[in-house]
Amino acid sequence: MTGPATLITPGLADAPTDVDLVVIGLGITGVGVALDAVTRGLTVLAVDAHDLAFGTSRWSSKMVHGGLRYLAQGQVGVAHESAVERGILMEVTAPHLSHAMPMLVPLNSSVTTFQAAVTRAGLIAGDVLRRGARTSAETLPRPRRVSATEALALAPPLRPSGLRGGLLSWDGQLEDDARLVTTIARTAAQHGAHVRTRARVLSATGSQVHLRDELTGATSTVTARAVVNATGVWAGELVEEVTLRPSRGTHLVLRAESLPGLQVSVFAPVPGSTSRFVLVLPQPDGTVYVGLTDEPTDGDIPDVPEPTEPEIGFLLDVVSAAFARPLRRDDVVGAFAGLRPLIDAGDGSTADLSRQHAVLTSASGVVTIVGGKLTTYRQMAEDAVDAAVAQGHLGAGPCRTRNLPISGADTRARLALLEQPARLVRRYGTDAELVLANAREVTGLPDEELLAPVSDRVPVTLAELVFGVTHEGAADVDDLLDRRTRVGLVPEDRATALPAAVRALELVEEHRAGHR
Ligand SMILES: Cc1cc2nc3c(=O)[nH]c(=O)nc-3n(C[C@H](O)[C@H](O)[C@H](O)COP(=O)(O)OP(=O)(O)OC[C@H]3O[C@@H](n4cnc5c(N)ncnc54)[C@H](O)[C@@H]3O)c2cc1C
Repeated sequence: MTGPATLITPGLADAPTDVDLVVIGLGITGVGVALDAVTRGLTVLAVDAHDLAFGTSRWSSKMVHGGLRYLAQGQVGVAHESAVERGILMEVTAPHLSHAMPMLVPLNSSVTTFQAAVTRAGLIAGDVLRRGARTSAETLPRPRRVSATEALALAPPLRPSGLRGGLLSWDGQLEDDARLVTTIARTAAQHGAHVRTRARVLSATGSQVHLRDELTGATSTVTARAVVNATGVWAGELVEEVTLRPSRGTHLVLRAESLPGLQVSVFAPVPGSTSRFVLVLPQPDGTVYVGLTDEPTDGDIPDVPEPTEPEIGFLLDVVSAAFARPLRRDDVVGAFAGLRPLIDAGDGSTADLSRQHAVLTSASGVVTIVGGKLTTYRQMAEDAVDAAVAQGHLGAGPCRTRNLPISGADTRARLALLEQPARLVRRYGTDAELVLANAREVTGLPDEELLAPVSDRVPVTLAELVFGVTHEGAADVDDLLDRRTRVGLVPEDRATALPAAVRALELVEEHRAGHR
């Protein structure tokens, strides 16, 4: 098979039983920890009960935040860390999976002159953060005020009456959150980490984990010098000292046709608030997300949180006020929700960990890393591995991830010169060639068939689906449709793509059978 053999596999067959570090959870935090640890020279087993990016990491707004809202709350250190990590992600580790996203705050009749001045001052402060983090203005241009005419050219569906201009600024946007997780997992595996999906940790101490292979039901024990619990909102299920209360954030998915010509993200102010906005975020695949809510939730933590009708109604109402045509319920072709962790401070109050992360070492020696955001995953991983190294008295090298491009990364200038199809370059960077060569070798099919979009509406290709199985550990159609690609965010499109996913799995199986 072209390139490295499958390095991410489902189940625990032939997994090591004694390693330096076990990482529990393969969201952005866990894969970041696995990559950090393995590149410091540690032996690593990293597992997830379900799949890569099964949890919160696939339900984000897919933004690489510069930390402006933390600055607004006076948290200068957190804001600076966010801006620094945004720069590292966009310029060093993952330029192929991120890009500058223009954002427009429309100045309409609901925004007073004072509010506009405050927002403008905030955007200028955000640019100071960018410069403080040494991120180039080529990566993220400077903010500026635009006229009503330019605002309407950037966002034609805006309501023109009362529009006196707009504030244009830039932040980072990911190609896709689950793609970032998958690519970091593959990079960790290439460096030698054992990455296993369908492997649930039933219990853990600082030196041992009990696991269940979710494919066979078999249980086993792995010994380790250190254990990191990176299970996000589920962290308290493994370490009783960690008490979390989640809060739900919901996004809607619209087709680009519902807001024709929209070229920028729009921040629609929530009526009556000077600091809350509903974000309208065009995506690279022809959809637009509208988010986000913040609803405290009680009770058991579900595997997949569900948005509610009142949340959907709230988002539609706020956004409709900014656009000429009100959005209706039937504009909504999908919706998804993720859970933010709120940590119980022990005195009845809660602290929102979505700003800052926490590293907690339990009495039994398990290091839990929780909170934070996609943007800061690298710093979170560094902090967690530092704690694990200290806890387990491990002989590890220094952290290397600050200067470590993940698989497929290159400079934007060199990525722009690649000749492979644009979609593959956007999703795999310099590995686009490998994705296509692999699909040719595995299937024997012509390029037209491998690169054809599944349908007019669904840009996913067979080449990507085959790569998901051969190189990214996808074990079934759900992995392919809901995490290696995100076609599952629109149920109608998921149904369209299902036969292609089944076919990819069959083609790889036939190829493997031929080599047995
Ligand atoms: C609505 C919303 C929007 C957001 N938007 C942004 C954004 O735009 N930009 C940004 O930077 N951040 C954003 N964030 C924050 C970011 O998404 C999260 O901080 C991050 O994804 C958390 O990742 P994690 O790896 O810690 O947890 P998760 O992604 O939840 O991963 C935990 C994993 O642990 C696994 N697991 C659980 N229990 C076990 C077990 N017993 N054994 C094995 N595996 C187990 C789960 O299957 C899961 O895959 C957003 C968060 C929310 C809620």
